[in-house]
Amino acid sequence: MRLSEIRGHEPVRKLIADAAARGSLPPCLVFAGPEGVGKYQLALALASVVNCEDDASRLDCCGKCGSCRGIARGAHPDVVTVAPGDTGKIKVDAIRDVLKQLAYRPFEGHRRVVVINEADRLVQDAQNALLKTLEEPPSTSMLLLITHRPNLLLDTVRSRCPQIRFGSLTTEEVENILVSQHELPPATARAAAAAADGSVARALEAGSGDYLEARESAVKVLRALATKPSAKIRLELGTEFSSYQRGAKSAKAKTVEREGLRLRLRALGTLFRDVQVVSVKGDHGWLANADLESELVELAKSYDIYRAGRGFENVDRAVTALTGNASVKVVADWLTQQI
Ligand SMILES: [Zn+2]
Repeated sequence: MRLSEIRGHEPVRKLIADAAARGSLPPCLVFAGPEGVGKYQLALALASVVNCEDDASRLDCCGKCGSCRGIARGAHPDVVTVAPGDTGKIKVDAIRDVLKQLAYRPFEGHRRVVVINEADRLVQDAQNALLKTLEEPPSTSMLLLITHRPNLLLDTVRSRCPQIRFGSLTTEEVENILVSQHELPPATARAAAAAADGSVARALEAGSGDYLEARESAVKVLRALATKPSAKIRLELGTEFSSYQRGAKSAKAKTVEREGLRLRLRALGTLFRDVQVVSVKGDHGWLANADLESELVELAKSYDIYRAGRGFENVDRAVTALTGNASVKVVADWLTQQI
């Protein structure tokens, strides 16, 4: 399947197509996001793009050449998928086998692509076996790890693979819903949908004053952390970002506090994604925070695709912790130490 034929995930497809055309694709990537949204399909499309025999457009594959057809049939010698066996795990032997193949030049294509589906099911030994290759990947290879539970990957694996995020609903779908059911002007709907991570409720929220205030606070913290300041300064930033107030407070005040941090985390997540788009020189038309373009360009100088990817991932962890009732202060303090 061609990249352009995949439904939804437009920002991700743009990011990948632009990076592929510029030859700036990292040799290993984690595709993370909800189950059943097409991450594997997109991985195969990417394998087709890098191996297509028709060089007319490097932004997509042709879908017709021998290589494209071979990949579509699951019969291309340079494109291998590893998935959990009967035990529900991916064992170390399976990984050693494919790593051996990666060491050789491609048979037919330009690049050997190994897709590890449900990568969170890799046993620890198998993940460790991957590390050396992730550190020094052969230039003719590409490793794509697909997972809906990226937090189950070892830190050492995640730190070597920029994470590409997939949302639940597509931006287009959200955009269409905003226009048809909520009567938003198309341009507003597009910007709101791009910031909503697949949720109509979030898209509607993104237009609110509270959200803009939260975003301002997120930009401020990113600016302050750009130069990687000391732990002490980070702690001060964490306290500020949490809007934590000392002393006893009512249940309602606590809820307001949590809600405030949740919104700031969401804004921070969209900023990290935008910074990734800018850092791979992607199409600025897909920025969720297009009104902050010059700010994003400035931030991308300090946050490359790896740092921004880690940032995104840590925001996710912070959101999970907050949902699990961790205190706002603990969550914000932790996060500002990680970014
Ligand atoms: Zn082709």
